[in-house]
Amino acid sequence: MNEFIEQKVQLQWHEPKANYDVVIVGGGGHGLATAYFLATRHGITNVAVLERKYIGGGNSGRNTTVIRANYGIPEAVRFYQRSVELYQTLEAETERWIMHKQKGLLWLAHNEAGIRAERARAEVNTAFGAKTEYVGPKEIQEIAPQIDMMGGGVWPVLGGSYHPEGATARHDRVNWALAEGAMRRGVHIHQRTTVIGLRKEGDRVVGVMTDKGPIGAGVVLSAVGGHVTNLANMAGVRLPIRTHPLQAFVTNHYARQFDPIVASMGLLFYASQTARGEMLIGAEIDRQPSYSYRSGHHFLQSCAFRAMTLLPFLRNLRILRQWTGVCDMSPDYSPIMGQTGVDGFYITTGWGTWGFKAIPAGGEQMAQLIATGETPALIAPFGLDRFARDRTLADRGSAGTH
Ligand SMILES: Cc1cc2nc3c(=O)[nH]c(=O)nc-3n(C[C@H](O)[C@H](O)[C@H](O)COP(=O)(O)OP(=O)(O)OC[C@H]3O[C@@H](n4cnc5c(N)ncnc54)[C@H](O)[C@@H]3O)c2cc1C
Repeated sequence: MNEFIEQKVQLQWHEPKANYDVVIVGGGGHGLATAYFLATRHGITNVAVLERKYIGGGNSGRNTTVIRANYGIPEAVRFYQRSVELYQTLEAETERWIMHKQKGLLWLAHNEAGIRAERARAEVNTAFGAKTEYVGPKEIQEIAPQIDMMGGGVWPVLGGSYHPEGATARHDRVNWALAEGAMRRGVHIHQRTTVIGLRKEGDRVVGVMTDKGPIGAGVVLSAVGGHVTNLANMAGVRLPIRTHPLQAFVTNHYARQFDPIVASMGLLFYASQTARGEMLIGAEIDRQPSYSYRSGHHFLQSCAFRAMTLLPFLRNLRILRQWTGVCDMSPDYSPIMGQTGVDGFYITTGWGTWGFKAIPAGGEQMAQLIATGETPALIAPFGLDRFARDRTLADRGSAGTH
């Protein structure tokens, strides 16, 4: 199947009903995947996804599409590996070409501490089910000959880790495939519908108030990306989340093939090549928390400079587009999934700069929780209560850039 012969996605729109068993606020990857897995794995289809803009209009349509499981702690490695595997079969399952491509991911170290960190990453990954190996400079050159191993004389590449299952997939296609799969089974998706309040009976959340009127719900799931503190406030839930903008950009077409995804822990950038041949480059969050979708020249200049230090061929390319999303950053760099302490109100958040790769597993696990009322073992460590219990899951280095 290719782009020219595949059929258009078929999205079936409906008028909103007065009540649903499950209302999911946010039509990004996590909201759509939860709806998809509720319908396909549990036969729960009296579900509405409410999206204030258009599906995939948040971070799920703005990211740099990196999929990987090379995290730094056992709980995260297991969870993200599940997602890596679900992505590998998502194309066949949804019968939609999501342009999933396994590329391999190189994570580069520039000093002794970095080398130790990458050796440790390879050990932890191998022990908990992800394929990652330590690689020396010679192997790195073979995988990505375009890298300047001297790092411009300042950032020499001394070693790194290689994660062969590192992949990318076309972000908007992932959103559409999940939306179509859910809608085909009876789920309603309502775009241009903003949740402006939560309806409560006593302490229980029993529905939402939208800009188009009230909707009743057995369960409400918040899947609103960087806007989560606003929604959680409506339920009286205080979250340890700060919202930070994250920017990225693409260049024009690079005539040669650039196979892997390359990330530098020292220079804090990562790069990969899109199916069109553009170089897609991302870096760390803006330091100042805000809900701003503005892109800035400072980011562009600083990130481009760092990227060119290791990939000098970028100097000959031009920047075509730059954009921004707003990220729900948790203090331990791990997601927060599950119940909130308020009956009828669930949450999937803390996806920060790393949640695209988690979309299938996050949706699968949240659907199981909502369908059964039991928290699945895979996401049990990621509950909101971990902060009160002093059981945070610090995985800072694994955000790649931060
Ligand atoms: C530049 C950039 C690069 C990134 N790169 C990567 C990467 O390479 N790999 C990776 O794994 N992750 C990456 N991420 C992170 C990833 O994109 C996110 O973590 C993920 O998409 C979050 O999905 P989500 O469904 O939780 O949120 P979103 O996709 O943001 O969806 C939330 C939706 O909720 C809607 N909404 C908000 N408030 C309301 C309301 N009141 N009523 C109704 N709807 C509402 C929004 O409009 C939005 O569509 C990147 C993010 C950015 C910004």
